[in-house]
Amino acid sequence: MLWKTLLLALTALLVILGVRTVSVPSRQAPPQSATVTIDGGRAPELLARAIRFPTTSREEVARMQPFLNEAWPRVREALPVEKVNELGRLYRWTGSDAALAPVVLMAHQDVVPVEKGSEAQWPHPPFGGVIADGSVWGRGATDDKIGLVGIFEAVERLLEQGYRPRRTVYLAFGQDEETLGEQGAKSIVALLQARGVKPEAVFDEGGAITTGLVPGVDRPAAVVAIAEKGYADFELKATGEPGHSSSPPRSTAIGILARAIQAVEDHPMPATLDTAAGQTLDYIAPEAKPAFRVLLANRWLADPIIMRVMQSKPASNATVRTVCSANVIEGGVKSNQLPQSARAVVNCRLIPGDTAEKVAAHFARVIGDPRVKVNILTADNASPEAPPESVAGRALKTALRQIYPEAIYVPSLAIGATDGRYFAALTPNVYRFSPIHVTPETLKQMHGPAEHISVEDAKTAVRFYAQLILNLCGR
Ligand SMILES: [Zn+2]
Repeated sequence: MLWKTLLLALTALLVILGVRTVSVPSRQAPPQSATVTIDGGRAPELLARAIRFPTTSREEVARMQPFLNEAWPRVREALPVEKVNELGRLYRWTGSDAALAPVVLMAHQDVVPVEKGSEAQWPHPPFGGVIADGSVWGRGATDDKIGLVGIFEAVERLLEQGYRPRRTVYLAFGQDEETLGEQGAKSIVALLQARGVKPEAVFDEGGAITTGLVPGVDRPAAVVAIAEKGYADFELKATGEPGHSSSPPRSTAIGILARAIQAVEDHPMPATLDTAAGQTLDYIAPEAKPAFRVLLANRWLADPIIMRVMQSKPASNATVRTVCSANVIEGGVKSNQLPQSARAVVNCRLIPGDTAEKVAAHFARVIGDPRVKVNILTADNASPEAPPESVAGRALKTALRQIYPEAIYVPSLAIGATDGRYFAALTPNVYRFSPIHVTPETLKQMHGPAEHISVEDAKTAVRFYAQLILNLCGR
């Protein structure tokens, strides 16, 4: 009788899996047309001009300021601007309904330098601002002058149409995102905080329309980062026993430290799908290819399998756990002298929920050797997670559906850091999305050679920002 019972149980399981697989409801916004009536025709040329300022330094960011004043005259006239630490800009577009919380649109003016020796890999000069072969070429094309130009141009064109937002819109353009953002975004946040401004939401760079990057789906995905990982450095310091290298103890400080590093590598922080990474799966599930869909629609059963797959590659592993790497090691002076101490610096990227203290305690436990001290050197915890379906989250989701109808909306966890993290002091609702198309190939061009954006993307970026404003602030 046992086999009959088993067969019955198995059949029931398959039925449950099947029913869940076909009935998992889509989380996508219904198809709808864009309501913006502006076009982004001027954007490629304006972007090319912005790229010609090699804003890798304060001086160059300063040289770009007259261009920003001259290119968008309606913005200059209608929106009061504050200079933050001289080069950061905070514009205020006052809404007609003071009862509504404001929104913040962010971009940064600076770019990373071009790596020495990589010039030959650029088909056009990195700061030439060349428009050729259907693209705008140059450093900053995608990171993040398209954000800067796209937002400016969207507001300029809406002003031209006589549009007035119901909600107040702040435009926040930092000057030093690539070098920690302390002068720009951090100071802008301090200013808004001092005034008691509590934004409904903040929109920064970060995600993209991706193709071939989200597993399990064939369609392009509008990836929006709803949280970003934290960053912490730890010192592991091993103390050796005194003695002479002619009659050494069993382990020197270097040997003790080596075992400590080994222990840290062998015992990673626990993995979890209980963060934005899990939300990614839930949004993909209804849209996924059949094999993926069976798994993703049945996470109550399939999570262990999904977790194994996620952990098998560094990029997806980084979305499910705090990852750490020993990147600095120091110790020892002379070949015939026992080292008194040795130290290593371990860098960790923290998922939401893991604090630096928690990681330090984990290290101490897995090392299990009182001769090794664990110290926290720097600690920036992960950002809070923005709800994908808040009022502002839905305005973004709808705008993406309207402007990029072919793409599915996928919330995600950013494994790198953006200026957006500073805004966590004002609101958890920080959404990170850049209006660009990205493939595994073009991903390498961010901070690398041959950075470019298609002319089409540059124009569409303006429509995207304008539609987002309309959805957030009334039409
Ligand atoms: Zn950037």
